[in-house]
Amino acid sequence: MLATLDQFVRIPRILRLDIAGQPLNWITWQDAVCLYARELVVWSLGDLALRIYGGICAASGQRSMIDVHSIIACSGRIHAESYSATPPLSNKALFARDRNFCMYCGMKYSDSQLTRDHVVPISRGGADEWTNVAAACRRCNIHKGDSLLHECKMELLALPYTPNVAEYLALTNSGRILGDQLNFLESRFNTILSERKDFGHEFVNPLPR
Ligand SMILES: [Zn+2]
Repeated sequence: MLATLDQFVRIPRILRLDIAGQPLNWITWQDAVCLYARELVVWSLGDLALRIYGGICAASGQRSMIDVHSIIACSGRIHAESYSATPPLSNKALFARDRNFCMYCGMKYSDSQLTRDHVVPISRGGADEWTNVAAACRRCNIHKGDSLLHECKMELLALPYTPNVAEYLALTNSGRILGDQLNFLESRFNTILSERKDFGHEFVNPLPR
């Protein structure tokens, strides 16, 4: 796909990899153009996402242009550490991980209607980390309060997990991710996220409402 900027409702971001092919982050097309201009893009994958035109060269009369691929690998040190690091925990990423379902009642909510529930409450020694947090609607969060699950007889509908970097990048760029970018990231997913794709249809034990 080769497109101009005004063909996108939401301008896609470019997936930046290190030279070894490990995904690093999303960058804007402007940052990608800078990397191309500085000749830091070593190789690329995916479709041509954008063609950006520059000025006309006085000597040749030719107009400069840069083709921006949807996935680019840039020179620099190997970012093995960042690939294995735990992605930062944010509500936006958490709700995306849990597909905007309340992990207790199984109902789907908007981000503004969800809360970050600590499975083992902070007050009971629980940590604020991926494996101890779940998306919960306000009703379920209030109902659970400072209780442990067995105390309030509530059950999690899916076990909390820590997304790897590829999963995290997919979760935090949903809505504007290009097909080839998603295919690339999906090949690096842990199996958990793949298995969760349709878990919304498998919920059981809904709380009485
Ligand atoms: Zn709920």
